[in-house]
Order: sequence, then C-alpha cells, then structure tokens
Amino acid sequence: MKSHGFRDTGTFTRSPARPGVTTPSNLARLMRCLDGNANLAIPLRPKGAGSSATDCNKTESGTTVNMTGLDRITHIDTYNHTVTAEAGVRLGALVAALAEEGMELIGNFDQTERTLGGALAAPCMGPGIGDQASMLSTQVIKMKAVLANGKVMTISDTQRHLLSAFRLSYGMLGVIFEVTMKVRPITTFAASHRSMDIDTFAQVSDRLASGNVGLKFYLMPYRNHVYLDLRHYDASNGNAYTTPWKIKDWGESTVLPNVFKSLGRVLPIPSVRYKLIDSISATTHGLVNSKLVGNGNNVAAGGRHRRRKPQNLLYSTWCFPASDFSVVVKAYARFCRESFARTAYRCDLPAAGYRVAQDNSALLSPSFDEPLIALQTLSTQKKGWDDFVLDLSDFAENWGGIPLFNQTVASRPAYIAQTYGGRMEFFKKIRQQLDPDGRLLNPYLARFFK
Ligand SMILES: Cc1cc2nc3c(=O)[nH]c(=O)nc-3n(C[C@H](O)[C@H](O)[C@H](O)COP(=O)(O)OP(=O)(O)OC[C@H]3O[C@@H](n4cnc5c(N)ncnc54)[C@H](O)[C@@H]3O)c2cc1C
Repeated sequence: MKSHGFRDTGTFTRSPARPGVTTPSNLARLMRCLDGNANLAIPLRPKGAGSSATDCNKTESGTTVNMTGLDRITHIDTYNHTVTAEAGVRLGALVAALAEEGMELIGNFDQTERTLGGALAAPCMGPGIGDQASMLSTQVIKMKAVLANGKVMTISDTQRHLLSAFRLSYGMLGVIFEVTMKVRPITTFAASHRSMDIDTFAQVSDRLASGNVGLKFYLMPYRNHVYLDLRHYDASNGNAYTTPWKIKDWGESTVLPNVFKSLGRVLPIPSVRYKLIDSISATTHGLVNSKLVGNGNNVAAGGRHRRRKPQNLLYSTWCFPASDFSVVVKAYARFCRESFARTAYRCDLPAAGYRVAQDNSALLSPSFDEPLIALQTLSTQKKGWDDFVLDLSDFAENWGGIPLFNQTVASRPAYIAQTYGGRMEFFKKIRQQLDPDGRLLNPYLARFFK
C-alpha cells in the first residue's frame, strides 16, 4: 500500500494509495494510520468484529482499520469496580477475565465475538432489568481515541457532552483505542419462561415492558406463537450454572441457522420446508426456553465465547416505542403473513425482541426519549431478503420505528433525519470540528451525516 514511484521529472512522487485493510497492533501504529501523511486510501473506517448488518464498518475505496490487533485488558480494578481495556478485545474474553475476579459487565449482552470498541461505538443492547441501562456504552467513564488528524484525545466523564457524542459515534469522531468503564460484582437473577399466542402477548406486553423485569422474546409470526424469557432480581446468590445457558445459546444461534440453511438446499418445496422449519423452531425454543435455564447472571447468560460472528445470518433491527408495542406486535405478525402471501418470501428464523430502557447517555441513543422494544428480524434465506427488508422499512416507518445506523438495513436518510432530529444536527457540528475533511466518513454514513 505504501508505494512510491518515479515520474518523468525524475523526482519522487507518491502514487495514489490503494484501498485495503490495515491491522495496527499498538497505539503508535494506529496513530500512524490516521496521520494525514500516511498515504493510506481515504476514507478510513474502523472495524471491530464486523457483526453490523450495514456498511458502517467497511469501505470499498478507502482503508479499513481492523481493530482486533489491539486486544489487551489493561487493568481490572475490583475496589472501584472498573475495567480498562483496548478497543479490539472481544466481549467474550473481557467477560471471562472479569469473571475470574468475581466481576461482570452491567447489562446482559450476547454475541460475545463483538469487540469492545464496536460495542461502544455502536449500540450493544440487551434486555436490561427494570430501569437498568440496556446499552454497554452507558458504563463508559473514560475513552482514548485517535482523531482524524492522527492525534490522541482523552475524553472523560467530566466532559459530559463530548463523552455523550463519542458513545455510539460509529467511528465518525475518531477511532476508539482504549476505554475505562464501570463493571460490578457478579449478580444473580432469576429467569422464567412462558409461551403464548401473539394476541395474549400483546395484552400483557404493556405490563411486561413497564414492570421491573428484563424482557426478551422470540416471535414466530407464521405459527402465531411467542416464547418469553423474563428476568428479575430475586434469586439467591451462587446458583447460576453456565452450561444450560451455553446450550440455549448453541440451540438458538448455531443449530437453528445451520439446520435451516441446509433445509433450504435439500427441501425445495416451500410449504413442506416451512412446516418443518417452524416445528423445529418451536421444539428448540420450547426446550431451551423452558426449565433448562433458571437462575443466571450476566456471565452465564452471555452464552458461549465465540471469536467469529454466526455465519449465514441476515438480520435487520428496528426499535419501537414500548408504549405502542402491544399494537405494533400484532401489526408486525400481520405484515409478515401478508408479505409471505404476496411475495412468497418469509424469514425462516423467529424474530428476537427485547426491552431497551430509556437512556440519554449518548447523543445518538435510539432510546433517548423513551423505553423501546428492539425487534430483530432474522433469516438465513438470501433470495428475496433485499425486497423484504425494503417492505419492512415501509412497515416500520408507518409504526414510528427507530432505525439503528449499524443494524437497520434499508433505512431512508430523510426518515432518519426526522427521527434523530436536532441531536443529529448537533452531532454533525461536532463531527465537522473533529473531522473537517471527512476522512472518517464512508459513502454509507455520508448519506446520513454529510
Ligand atoms: C446474529 C446477530 C445478532 C445480534 N444481536 C444483537 C443484539 O442482540 N443487540 C445488539 O445491540 N446488537 C446485536 N447485533 C449487532 C452487533 O453485534 C452490535 O452492534 C455490535 O456491538 C457491533 O460490534 P462489532 O465489534 O462487530 O463492530 P463492527 O460491526 O465491526 O462496527 C460497528 C461500528 O462501530 C465502529 N467501530 C468499530 N470499532 C471501533 C473503534 N475501535 N473505534 C471507533 N469506532 C469503531 C465501526 O466503524 C462501525 O461503525 C447482532 C449481530 C448479529 C450478527
């Protein structure tokens, strides 16, 4: 990538830098990457585990800065309940190191292959219990980032507004290099499970979304069924076993996608295939979301420690105001069934959902104004997916859905501007100060932030 060439004049000139990927292994190398003299193709795009559903973490014409080489856990402070780690460390490795010291992350997060930087620069959300913050970025008290000019900036909680802009900044203000955040001693919760039809779920969803429980669910629109996973803090300590949670994670995130992908190849008749797919989903969820898991904690419920994102999975996440969800969930099931009847496309995996507490700690927080329900539509069926997510966007816009820049496929810039409003304008002003030449902005993000 660093090529020099002779020209007719006989003087040295730089030939244009080629697009590529660079993986810095220490701060000095990362600073050199961002330095304006580095002769790396622009834009520069930080990438963690690459588990986002949109193009926010890649660039065709510029340089992808792969952060997984910066993966040291610098310090666990069991007295002040903090951890300091580099941005490329995987959540699974961090969770394991904290557990050895009797500590855990605040909040329940699966997808353990994601990196700390990716989980702070983009929403990393899970079912928070009651008003507990649902986003990992809320816990950050200090960050070190390398700016678009190659210089290091330290941002701490004394600079409240700046820290709030850097949380969920999608790598548009700088590349996060090191983070200090709050953790806590391992705390046991009780998990209980129910299953019901969608109308019954709609009736109880208001109560569940406002109660002091962590709500997660799996929705099967074509079978009119919902599996609930409810968590609350009234368990006795010390009795949370990790193995059942690992089996649950394996069933949900490995067995189902792989089996359905194979069925797509060997069973070409859709009516037969989907009948079987729904039976397998119902059986698996009936087993793993039943008596298998009882008590848990944020270490056990994070599932298995993976280094790679699940293969073959397509997903798009929209968030909806929790107060409207009893109506939205019925409309969503209707939308899925009507769309299947009209286009012959349907998702083969149950949609996953969870409650996200109101959280205004980040300027671009999706739940800045009110609690939300995140609804993640998942499938392994590629053919027809692109049209389906366009229809899904129309549906979600009609129901006041809130898109996420890294997890919502096919969201329209005009709708995003309307949803994030003045906060987005304020973010753009900070961006203009920190990256006036747009070195960190790829075409995907430029659609929203130019
Ligand atoms: C099957 C599946 C299920 C998922 N379920 C959930 C879920 O339940 N909840 C949820 O919140 N998310 C979920 N996700 C989405 C995704 O895992 C998260 O958004 C994750 O936090 C992204 O982390 P990453 O390391 O993969 O980041 P990437 O996807 O690589 O990057 C995300 C963004 O952060 C930026 N970035 C990365 N590293 C840095 C850095 N060091 N400094 C500055 N910017 C950086 C990138 O440029 C990009 O804009 C799921 C994804 C998959 C594939």
